[in-house]
Amino acid sequence: MKRPIVKYGHSVLRAKGKPVRAVDEHVRALAADMLETMRAANGVGLAAQQVGEALQLTVLDISEVEDRPSTLRWDGKEIDPLSAMPLILLNPELVLEGETVSGTEGCLSFPEINAEIDRAESVLVKAETLEGEKIEFEASGLLARALQHEVDHLNGILFIDRMSSVSKASLASRLKRLQKETQRA
Ligand SMILES: [Zn+2]
Repeated sequence: MKRPIVKYGHSVLRAKGKPVRAVDEHVRALAADMLETMRAANGVGLAAQQVGEALQLTVLDISEVEDRPSTLRWDGKEIDPLSAMPLILLNPELVLEGETVSGTEGCLSFPEINAEIDRAESVLVKAETLEGEKIEFEASGLLARALQHEVDHLNGILFIDRMSSVSKASLASRLKRLQKETQRA
């Protein structure tokens, strides 16, 4: 079931997600709904906070993006990132690696707002799956950027927090308007 996406101005986006201790029906249904919601919105990632639940759960799928490459190393082997999509990650933890690179980001909770954000070029990810399996992988490129963006959401951090002060100042009136619209709704 597709769910409404929570927009900037809603307090749940600032809530740190609680760890997922057990995968029950609620968590399974939530993950399935998040995938459907993300795809319907043409997003590459969605965090539980964005559908109103402060939980350490995120979904990602970069399959539809053709112009921004990613790499993925799984169990020490380089694999086609598309073969691992979609990713449904519980309790993910990141180790940032490599250089800092700037790239364009948007966010489904901030319609039509984009900015250049500095992120680590690659990340080492430790997480759990819906099947209760512990996984570890290394990603770079767009996938690394999306993972950093989503794990930030799980900790109540938004991409506007990582914008340059110049970008944020230039978006200030749009952000204020969005915040007001959300709070009125
Ligand atoms: Zn986002």
